[in-house]
Amino acid sequence: MTRPIQYACDPSARYCECGHCSLPPARNIDLEPMKGFNRAATGFGISLLLVFAIAIILAAGFVRTESIHRDIVFRRSV
Ligand SMILES: [Zn+2]
Repeated sequence: MTRPIQYACDPSARYCECGHCSLPPARNIDLEPMKGFNRAATGFGISLLLVFAIAIILAAGFVRTESIHRDIVFRRSV
């Protein structure tokens, strides 16, 4: 009898009787995917916001140059 005791460990279910199994902390299993999702969602939101900001800036600049151009054309025609 070289084996001391048979433990009914189930690391995948975070269950350990021997106390020597390398179980991932319970919190990480529940929160890690959510954290990753939140990080991805936050990054996506920030990049979307940046794209929107750039688009607004570009649109504003385009409108401004357009109005200036129209103004110049109008003054020339007068
Ligand atoms: Zn164990």
